[in-house]
Amino acid sequence: MSQKDIDELKSDVSEEVVETQKSDENEEEYEKFCFLCRRPESQTGKMIELPSNIYVCPDCMQKSFDTMNTQFGDGTMNISDLMNMPGINMINLSDIPSPVQQPKKIKKKSAEKKPLIDLKDIPAPHKIKAALDDYVIGQEYAKKVISVAVYNHYKRVATNTMDSIEIEKSNMLMIGPTGCGKTYLVKTLAKLLDVPLAIADATSLTEAGYIGDDIESVVSKLLAAAGNDVDKAEQGIIFIDEIDKIAKKKNTNQRDVSGEAVQQGMLKLLEGSEVEVPVGANSKNAMVPMVTVNTKNILFICGGAFPDLENIIKERLNKKASIGFYADLKDKYDNDPNLLSNVTVEDIRNFGMIPEFIGRLPIIFTLNGLNEDMLVKILKEPKNAILKQYQKLLALDEVKLEFEEEALRSIAKKALEKDTGARALRAILESYMLDIMFQVPKDDSIGEVIITPEYIEGTGGPKILMRGQENLYLEG
Ligand code: ADP
Repeated sequence: MSQKDIDELKSDVSEEVVETQKSDENEEEYEKFCFLCRRPESQTGKMIELPSNIYVCPDCMQKSFDTMNTQFGDGTMNISDLMNMPGINMINLSDIPSPVQQPKKIKKKSAEKKPLIDLKDIPAPHKIKAALDDYVIGQEYAKKVISVAVYNHYKRVATNTMDSIEIEKSNMLMIGPTGCGKTYLVKTLAKLLDVPLAIADATSLTEAGYIGDDIESVVSKLLAAAGNDVDKAEQGIIFIDEIDKIAKKKNTNQRDVSGEAVQQGMLKLLEGSEVEVPVGANSKNAMVPMVTVNTKNILFICGGAFPDLENIIKERLNKKASIGFYADLKDKYDNDPNLLSNVTVEDIRNFGMIPEFIGRLPIIFTLNGLNEDMLVKILKEPKNAILKQYQKLLALDEVKLEFEEEALRSIAKKALEKDTGARALRAILESYMLDIMFQVPKDDSIGEVIITPEYIEGTGGPKILMRGQENLYLEG
């Protein structure tokens, strides 16, 4: 044998080896499975190939033919009869993807997620304030502070970082007497910005393991408000009301599970951390699925009336003012209506909030108590003012409702006496409107109702104007 022959023989052998290897590889990759009984070709014998890489083993094919023959063997049934038979669905085999042989599709990367908050979409502070003005009366300073803080916060959320300088979170502490619009301000803000809002009450919170709500339940509430959408919840607002109720309890030997411990527990939430919260429940004990929510971009606003804080401020101011040449009278601050606006971090600490807690609420501002003028304005000016609501209700019956200015003042005076801020307004007005709302629909001829101050003070009745008739007075 010549060298040439040997070479030829070698190349033939190597080609054969390559071919067998190739077919081996193919077979390893694609062992055929029966589409119906799922057995491999090695068990069933040669498969019958159908379109779209579907294989059926001879046994299954035979079985299918047998069933067809036994049912329609007499030849009286045509294909349309078959389609109309109940319980029979025709399957188009080419629609069914082959289960085994089809190579796996690589999942397309989902398109870049659009950020929920776009830097360009955040309204400028003056626009936020202007929008708040439509709803919230007075509280100019608070509206200004909150507009700037929210604007900065969402700028931070939208950009994440700015030239590696982390912008601090603008959590807020709002101090103001009850019914002056704290909750209302936050609610309006969330509505304007279209972000989810959770309103929680600090009094119900306790340290984990004690009866009451866990601190993380506030995040759970936010998640519910965001429709269980974690991304949306992570950019929401949490308002914790009655925050003054978790002040450190003074002179107590017991463990302070609803005071200082709650403040401690809230520290990590305020600063930003990952918390595991149950979906759709506020207790971790129930068998509910959990999700992780990062509180880094959640804006926390705490609010409270802080009763007694005025005395603490007064004491500090008096102490300062009673030394040296410029010593003041001791009762100088007694009747100061804006005393609360002098609040400092030190006063809040003296009230019983721990320094770490106050440190995480860098923006502190106060709201004023409401006076008579503001109450009158609250009655008639906001977009959804109570008067407008009643006017609309009566307009549906084609009756005009008017209030005399003095009547509004009387209502405001009565509300002031109750000392619950604007909250008293609705209750007072409701009691006067009850009779009117009861009587008016009875009589089709009534065209206009005018509420007079006499009616509010109980010395007269409202003016009732008939349609096209002269005035009549309804005795109160
Ligand atoms: P709180 O300060 O105790 O949280 P709220 O914000 O709940 O008081 O106020 C109670 C209601 O009084 C609100 O729903 C709102 O209708 C009305 N209100 C209070 N303050 C104002 C205000 N400054 N402007 C308009 N409405 C107000």
